[in-house]
Amino acid sequence: MIIDTHIHLDDSRYNDDLDAVLDRAREGGVKRFIIPGAHPDTLERALEIVEANSDVYFAVGVHPYDMDSFDALDFDKYAKHEKCVAIGECGLDYFRLEGSDEDKLKEKERQKEVFRAQIELAKKYKKPLIVHIRDASRDSKEILQASDAKEVGGVLHCYNADEELLSLAKEGFYFGIGGVLTFKNAKKLLNVLPKIPEDKLLIETDGPYLTPTPHRGERNEPFYTTFVAQKMSELLDIPLKNIKETTTQNAQKLFALR
Ligand SMILES: [Zn+2]
Ligand SMILES: [Zn+2]
Repeated sequence: MIIDTHIHLDDSRYNDDLDAVLDRAREGGVKRFIIPGAHPDTLERALEIVEANSDVYFAVGVHPYDMDSFDALDFDKYAKHEKCVAIGECGLDYFRLEGSDEDKLKEKERQKEVFRAQIELAKKYKKPLIVHIRDASRDSKEILQASDAKEVGGVLHCYNADEELLSLAKEGFYFGIGGVLTFKNAKKLLNVLPKIPEDKLLIETDGPYLTPTPHRGERNEPFYTTFVAQKMSELLDIPLKNIKETTTQNAQKLFALR
């Protein structure tokens, strides 16, 4: 089986056919799903989904793009839910910084502050982190290390193939691999993939985004993790069955899933 460790099922793009999306995935062998927290507005929808589907879990957190909603979010309410398996997605994203240099600096500082606060929450609730990093490897790594995030560990989701982050494998961090692996221009990731310890590999869709070949341009969905597993198997020269087994065990271990 496969566990989709990062799928935004609470996104409105799944509203109309969520049951069909989940069934297609289940039939294809995807047997567990984790909805990462992104914006507090969709957390109620995430709760609805996990309460209606025994194989779906969720996380609570604030994405760096939505950090302004952090202060108002009632973490306690969600983190204590029996199906809440992680804190995140949280992290740093410098890709879309706007305005003057001073504005950019300010936003970076605020992102760091909200990231640090969520690492502390993960430690408080003893849950692993789902970490989102884009164009911010050095700062992210520094914060994870300075905050002793290894106490809880987590996943660097949508791993961007930065070699600098590989050493976090020794500190309890896993690497979430998704549709990008199937892209023709994914050279960096192809080179780095064999350097990730096998016991730190996870599979994710990040749907509705980052749809793998041969479905690029369409909405992504959990069934398509089968293409990612297949590609991983070819690249690492490991039988598909073993890739599925290993990544499933890794996800079960990190998120304490049955
Ligand atoms: Zn993300
Ligand atoms: Zn995401």
